[in-house]
Order: sequence, then C-alpha cells, then structure tokens
Amino acid sequence: MHAIVARAAGGPEVLDYTELPDPSPGPGQLLVRSAVAGVNFIDTYKRSGVYAMEYPHVVGSEGAGVVAEVGAGVDEFAVGDRVVWTEAPGSYADLVVVDAGQALHVPDAVTLEDATAVALQGLTAHYLCTSSYPVRPGDRVLVHAGAGGVGLLLTQMLVARGAHVVSTVSTPEKAELSRGAGAEHAIQYTAFADLTAELPEVVRGLTGGEGVAAVYDSVGKDTFDASLASLRRRGTLVLYGGSSGQVPPFDPQRLNAGGSLVLTRPKLADHTATRTELVERATEVLGAVAGGTLHVRVGATFPLADAADAHRALEGRATTGKVLLLPDA
Ligand code: NDP
Repeated sequence: MHAIVARAAGGPEVLDYTELPDPSPGPGQLLVRSAVAGVNFIDTYKRSGVYAMEYPHVVGSEGAGVVAEVGAGVDEFAVGDRVVWTEAPGSYADLVVVDAGQALHVPDAVTLEDATAVALQGLTAHYLCTSSYPVRPGDRVLVHAGAGGVGLLLTQMLVARGAHVVSTVSTPEKAELSRGAGAEHAIQYTAFADLTAELPEVVRGLTGGEGVAAVYDSVGKDTFDASLASLRRRGTLVLYGGSSGQVPPFDPQRLNAGGSLVLTRPKLADHTATRTELVERATEVLGAVAGGTLHVRVGATFPLADAADAHRALEGRATTGKVLLLPDA
C-alpha cells in the first residue's frame, strides 16, 4: 500500500510518501480501502512532536472508504460497507486497519468526502456545543477561527440551537464564509495591534457591555487572555486547541477575579468513549448532513502523496473548512 510516514519529529518535510506491506485486520478489526483521509490539526501536533509519538509512524487518524476485509468476531460490518472513522492511527494510507468499535456506517445520501469532513471536526463541534458548554437559546457566544474546519460546523450548530455567534477570522474572505455559516459578526482579529486589549472591547461593545456566555477557543496561546476577558460573569471558556501554540501554566485565581469563570480543556475521545455515545453523536451529525441542515465545506483536496503541502497550508492559515487527502488522485 501507499502511505505517508513521519520519519522523525519536525516540519512538513519529515513526511515521506512511501510503499509499505499491506496490513491485515486482527480480531474485532476491519481492513478498509480508503477513499479519503481527513487532515486535522492534531496530525500536525503529532508530526511535529507537540504530542509524544514514536517515529517513524504512519500519520493520520481519520478517513472513509469501503470495507475490504472483516476480522474475526465482527458482526456489525460486512465487505462492501461504506464506513467513516475518526480514530484509526495510520489513516494517511490507501489501506487502513480500523477497530470495528470506531467505524461508523455512512448513510447513502452522504458522500465519503462529506462524511470525512464532518467526522472528527463535526463530532467535536457537536460535543463542544452540547456538553462542554451546552448552549441555550439566546446565548451570545464567541467562536475563534470561525472559518476553520471545526469553526464553520460549530457556528452552524450553535445557531441551530438559538445562539448568537460572534466569530474571529484572519481575512475578509474568511469573514464572509463565517457569516455564511451564521455568525452575526466576524471580527478580523489579525487587524488588532493589541489583541488581548482590543478584542474584549469589541466583544463587549457587541453584547451591551456584558460579555459572552461562552468562548470556544481553538487558537490557544494568542487568544487565551482575550477570551477570558470577553466572558460575562460566570461565563465558560472552552479551550479546545492550540493552533497558535499551547497556553502556558495558568493561575486559577484569575477565574475568580474574572467573575467566577469556568475553564474546561476537553478532548473528543472523552466524549465518544462508549460505542453508544459515538454512534449517537455521529447519527445526529451525519443525519444533519443527509437532511441538508448541516452544510459541509471542503476547502481543499490534495493527492495523498502531497500530504506535506496539506500540512503547510493548514499550519499557514491558508485553508478554510475541511482539508482532505485523496489516495487515488
Ligand atoms: P482549522 O481549520 O480551524 O485551522 C486552524 C485555524 O486556526 C487557521 O485556519 C487559523 O484561522 C487559526 N489560527 C490562528 N492562529 C493560528 C496560527 N498561529 N497558526 C495556524 N492557525 C492559526 O483546524 P481544525 O478545524 O482542524 O482544528 C481547529 C482546532 O481545534 C485545532 O487547534 C485543533 O487542535 C482543535 N481540535 C480539538 C479537538 C478536541 O477535541 N479538543 C478536536 C478537533 C480539533 P484564521 O486564519 O481565521 O485565524
């Protein structure tokens, strides 16, 4: 099979397109002929060494394709089924071994590309707005990187639940996309000389001085202080990523001074830890795509061999919506 291997911790140049022996599924596993691999920011953390990994390893965790072989003891899936997954190490490859407990059936009305575009990022958006801060009708909330993969999906889900969304974006083109997803205001945060001082002022100006009920912050290091200062009394900061870098150690007393604030640092795996929860969330998200109420934006596709370029684009803030790799391209 063909695969993308990270040969050491480092920049996109450590990614090699290479040939490896075909894998076979063990008990409880599926072998899937991949049609598409999803690119997620976490792939860049694992490639660069932000997350501890062994090298070399085949990169990626998300994808979709057609079941080619079924391991012993699997009865929920058969050869020929169309499946999507968020958690199968080594997904940047044309053959992927997926634990059956991680695989999800793709509804007929949903393409494998769209299923991948709402798998990891859509399930993340879902738990963020239903569990991390369960949004209520009328809430005003702030979403950073509003035109990103998670950002566009999260904004739509928040608006569908009756929230008023303010977003941040780096360019006018991204602002337009974010407003298209339902944001009432898309603030160009890269235009501020002092983000930490100026963004909360703008947010307060848009919320009658009160601040927002929640901030969904995936940018991390650069936005963390501004996020805290944008919250209303007893507001919640959902810090779910670090696209600009990880947030340094933090004094909890700041939550008291800010007005009895709540800080959470969640991850997807804890919100899909049981098969029941994974399937419930996925059924809702894939059903919304099938029903036309959740719109998917695939912002860029790359041949699998060009995975390094996909990483450069994602880390260089040059992408919108989902980035996909196509093994057959
Ligand atoms: P995005 O499509 O959102 O891409 C990242 C975006 O972050 C960029 O497009 C850019 O938007 C913004 N950004 C701001 N500062 C920087 C910077 N210095 N370098 C690069 N990008 C920057 O990616 P994803 O949707 O894949 O992921 C978004 C975030 O969510 C990531 O941090 C990821 O780790 C996290 N995540 C967390 C999960 C969890 O369960 N905790 C699960 C899934 C994702 P702009 O140009 O508008 O500023």
